[in-house]
Amino acid sequence: MTATVERMVLGPVQANTYILTDSETNQAAVIDAGDCPKALLDALRGKDVRYILLTHGHYDHILGVPALKAAFPNSQICIHALDADCLHDTAKSLAAAAGEQERPIIPDRLLHEGDEIALGKTRLTVLHTPGHTEGGVCYVDYENRLLFSGDTLFCLTAGRTDFPGGSYEELLASLLRLRALDGDFTVYPGHNRSTTLDAERRRNRYMRRLGV
Ligand SMILES: [Zn+2]
Ligand SMILES: [Zn+2]
Repeated sequence: MTATVERMVLGPVQANTYILTDSETNQAAVIDAGDCPKALLDALRGKDVRYILLTHGHYDHILGVPALKAAFPNSQICIHALDADCLHDTAKSLAAAAGEQERPIIPDRLLHEGDEIALGKTRLTVLHTPGHTEGGVCYVDYENRLLFSGDTLFCLTAGRTDFPGGSYEELLASLLRLRALDGDFTVYPGHNRSTTLDAERRRNRYMRRLGV
């Protein structure tokens, strides 16, 4: 392993925040931030925070981003181009419906399928996995066998598709892509506990339903 993963459960909907740290360089990425409490800043102390990587633009994954960016002004906020509107549109991020105050966020980098994020020798590849939102992504570390799946794939279930921009057909296609990845991965979803891709291939009702 060239990297470590820490998890915190943050924000109004108990979304997972992950801290991925390259062991050699101490460069780190924060993946989603539903809040930015002192505990998160404490966990990041001494790390070289390079990226704030968003799996998608729903408010429960981004409410902590302004404070996190303020604490680490050199970090790059990254989101898929198709979810970038969520960063200033409280209807699209669902913040308005939830009665949450969302501060506008300016992304530093818009992501597309196949983009790479580097933390020292640790590499994340962007997989565009729409369905839960139009611009949902997974971040894959092929070397360390890590899959940050956002609200696309959860332990034993999958993301909702009834929000604006959601599509059940696209979600199934995205799950099919994940299922077809080579080998096993530790899966770090946007909510609830971690799992493995092999376990989901066997037990996840959405993945099992997909054609071979
Ligand atoms: Zn979501
Ligand atoms: Zn969520």
